[in-house]
Amino acid sequence: MKIEDTWMLLPGRKVGFGTIECENGVISAVRLRAAPSGARPATLALPGLVNCHCHVAMTLLRGIGGGLPLQRWLEEAIFPIEAKLTDADVAAGMTWGAIEMLSGGTTCVADMYDHTYAGAEALAATGMRGNLCFPGVAFPDGTPKGRLEECVAFAKASLGGRLAADICIHSEYLTDEGFCRALAAANCELGRPLHFHVSETRKEHDECIARHGRTPIEYLADTGILDCGGYAAHCVWCTDDDFRVMAEKGVTLVHNPTSNMKLGSGFARIVRAMELGVNVALGTDGTASNDNLDMFEEMHLASLVHKGLANDPTVLSPWDVIEMATKNGAKALGREDGGEIAVGKAADLCVVDLDRPHLAPAYDLPNLVVHSMHSSDVVLTVVAGEILYDSRGGRPTWPAIDFERAREDLLSRTAAIGRADAARRDML
Ligand SMILES: [Zn+2]
Repeated sequence: MKIEDTWMLLPGRKVGFGTIECENGVISAVRLRAAPSGARPATLALPGLVNCHCHVAMTLLRGIGGGLPLQRWLEEAIFPIEAKLTDADVAAGMTWGAIEMLSGGTTCVADMYDHTYAGAEALAATGMRGNLCFPGVAFPDGTPKGRLEECVAFAKASLGGRLAADICIHSEYLTDEGFCRALAAANCELGRPLHFHVSETRKEHDECIARHGRTPIEYLADTGILDCGGYAAHCVWCTDDDFRVMAEKGVTLVHNPTSNMKLGSGFARIVRAMELGVNVALGTDGTASNDNLDMFEEMHLASLVHKGLANDPTVLSPWDVIEMATKNGAKALGREDGGEIAVGKAADLCVVDLDRPHLAPAYDLPNLVVHSMHSSDVVLTVVAGEILYDSRGGRPTWPAIDFERAREDLLSRTAAIGRADAARRDML
C-alpha cells in the first residue's frame, strides 16, 4: 500500500511532502518532493500513536464514579463492578476500546487488566499492536494464590504476532516485597520490562516511605524488579532521586495528564524528568478516569499544563510532545522498530485530513498537531501496512472488525452495569 501526496512528520524533527510506500509490514520507501505551490495541504501522515498506559476494557465503565475521591472511586464505584466482569465482558470492552483508539490514530497500546488472555485474544483480532500483562497483586493474607505464577506464565506466553507480553505489578501498595523479589527473580530469564503504577497520589507515596523508609521507586529498585527496565504510569510525586533511578534503570515515565487531573492527583514533573534523562511517553489511562482514549487530547494537555505550571511557554516544544506520543512510546515498549516514518521501520501510521476549518491555515504543522488537531481529524490508521480504520470516503470503516456486532455486544453488556451504577448514585 502507499499513501500519496501527503505531508509527513519525519525523523530529525523534519516535515516533508511526498509518498510513503509500505511492503511486508514495513515502510519500504519514503519519496520526498517539493509540495506543489499554491496547492492547499491535503493530508498529514504521522507515525502511529502509542498509548503507553491503559486499561482498555474499562471502556465498559466509561465515566463511572466521576467526582469521587480516588479511594472511594475505586472501592465504591469501580471494584464492585470489576469483581463481576467475565472474559466475554472484557473482550467486548477491549474490542470497543480498540475501535475508539484506531479511530483516533493509535496503533499500539500498553494494557494492564484482568481476564488478560481474553483481552489479548480480542485485541489480536482487531489488528492493533499491544503490550499486555497479567496484573501482579498480592495481599498480606496470601490471597489471591497463584497470582505470581500466572503473571510469569503470561509473560512467558509472549503471544507473538503484533502482541507482546510484559511483567507487571499493579503497584507498590497492592503487592509485597516477597512478590516483587520473586517476580524479579523469575524475570531474569525472561528479561521483560515492568508495567506498573507508581507515586500516583501523595498519600500512596508517603505511605510507602512510612512502610519501607524509601520512596516507591527506590523500594522497587531495591527488589530488583526494575532491572530489565519498565514503564511507570503517573509518577506524580516522584523525587529527583527517583528520576535518576529511572534514567539509570531504563524506566520510562508514562505521563497521564487527563487522569491525574480528573482524579485530583497532581502534575507529574515531566520537564524535570526529561532534564534528568528519563524517557517520557504518554498514556490515557482507562476511560473510567479520563474519560476517552484520545491521544491528541493527551498531547494537547501535556503541552499546556507544563507551560502553565512553569510560567514559561518555551518548555516542551510541539516536537517534544509528538515524540512522547510516538517514538518515546515505541521505545518504552521495546518496539524501537517503530515510532518513526523511515525506511525499514514498522508501517504503523495515522493520516489526518488537513482540510478542516480548525486546521487552516497550516503554517506550522507540528504546532498544529499538538494545539489544533482532534482525534476526529484522523481519516486513516495503518498497522503493519494494513488499513485498520478508514474514513476517507466519508463513512468510517474498520476493515478487521465487525463494528455493528461490537457495538451490540458492548451495549448489551453495559446495560446492567449502568443500572447498578444508577442505583449506587441514588443511594448517595
Ligand atoms: Zn492505570
